[in-house]
Amino acid sequence: MYINGNWITSNSEKKIYNPATEEIVDKVFIGGKSEAEQAVKSAKDAFDKWSKETPEVRASYLWKIAEEIRKEKEQFAQLISKEMGKTIHNARNEVLSTIGYFEWFAEEARRVYGDTISSTDQAKRMFTIKQPVGVVGAITPWNFPLSMIARKFAPALAAGCTIILKPALEAPLSAIKLFKVIEKVRLPKGIANLVLGPAAEIGAVFMESKAVRKITFTGSTDVGKLLMKQSANTVKKISMELGGHAPFIIFEDANIEDAVKGLVQSKFASTGQQCVSPNRVYVHESIMEEFTNELTEIVSSFKVGNGLDEHNDIGAMINEKGIEKVESHVKDALDKGAKLIYGGSRIGSEGCFYKPTILSEVTDEMIIVDEETFGPVIPLIPFSTEDGVLQKANSTNYGLASYFYTNDIGRMYRMSERLEFGMIGVNDSSPFNVKTPFGGVKESGIGKEGGYQGLEEYLETKSVSVKITPNVN
Ligand code: NAP
Repeated sequence: MYINGNWITSNSEKKIYNPATEEIVDKVFIGGKSEAEQAVKSAKDAFDKWSKETPEVRASYLWKIAEEIRKEKEQFAQLISKEMGKTIHNARNEVLSTIGYFEWFAEEARRVYGDTISSTDQAKRMFTIKQPVGVVGAITPWNFPLSMIARKFAPALAAGCTIILKPALEAPLSAIKLFKVIEKVRLPKGIANLVLGPAAEIGAVFMESKAVRKITFTGSTDVGKLLMKQSANTVKKISMELGGHAPFIIFEDANIEDAVKGLVQSKFASTGQQCVSPNRVYVHESIMEEFTNELTEIVSSFKVGNGLDEHNDIGAMINEKGIEKVESHVKDALDKGAKLIYGGSRIGSEGCFYKPTILSEVTDEMIIVDEETFGPVIPLIPFSTEDGVLQKANSTNYGLASYFYTNDIGRMYRMSERLEFGMIGVNDSSPFNVKTPFGGVKESGIGKEGGYQGLEEYLETKSVSVKITPNVN
């Protein structure tokens, strides 16, 4: 743990396992309430000075952090793969997007503007100023153990906030390595703090503290809802990046080869354990056979194994619990009449590996159509009309990412306007960029990360009215 510029140990340790090899990667110290309270105090004490620094000074630290991560790009990527199982290719992309977030918000730090508002009174002048929200409590998941932190840290620090991080205990090693970088660039003490320990205990300290003015959370919708309720007591500002259940629609006029490539790239990234992972694949009935054949050909060529092996296309899943959830979704679908086209079982008994799986004839009664599977399973669902598929795509409580493939320009607009999702990929299975706002609607969340909007989340707008003597003779 890293509190007030010091590394902190404790009497309690947790072993972190590589889900591909079941070997211990490292051990971490576990804290709790007391460490979380110390971290909140140190962030509070550091806020006054940090919030008054110029954006240029704050940005200079973000540039240095980005530069140091770039120097250790490969070490970061290997650590991500070891602690949570994704392929080294996916892990390298995660490191690049992490660097991208630090650089983007270093630039955006200088672009915080207020407004001048025309006055209805000659004796008044009115304007707004934007100021940092205050101390931020950040809670992050294991599936992107580095970049989800960057999406919060970079804008928070750019805005002039101070921050305390509680990463997922399943994969905290990338967070610790990031804090080594923070120490190396000599970010003044107290501005960034790291606490590890029981989630509910540390979460409670954040939520009950009046000093913590903002909670930024990435994780499941259930925990997000709980944190929203808890934040009501002190009326904190909140950003919630929650779960998703992305539809992936292939119309009859789409380029099938592109759609298949896009689907597998998106679906098997991080072994299907992504909030934006396609979970319902709607294929027009007239191209279902051709699409399924092309998809099966590619999927059957994929190699599954240790993410650190450059030749593997799909890595390990996070843990046994993750595998069990996939198994239960596949079993439920098969019991209710789905057809197994490929895969459908775990691989070996060592390591957490599950075969890339294709199910066809999937129907609305199956759990897989409603709940996040968070694994390498493609459920194929036929459709016949644009209106019909749109209605099905929208019939979910989630609203994070969605994708569709078509060559009809009118449909591109119609669908983009009517899909109830925060992010839409049109003939693009990776419509995400540090420069564009990332975030969901409905039960997928509140607020945006990335883009210029990502900085706004850490700023308050204050309005000022000055009474003056209008004329002086
Ligand atoms: P999770 O179980 O909700 O955990 C996320 C974080 O919340 C972890 O740090 C966890 O700590 C902590 N947590 C759990 N219970 C808590 C409590 N009572 N109070 C405070 N903190 C608590 O989610 P996950 O399994 O790690 O991640 C997968 C989920 O994240 C999926 O639903 C996925 O869709 C979503 N996700 C969303 C986005 C997005 O941008 N929208 C991005 C990535 C992932 P411990 O792990 O230490 O228990």
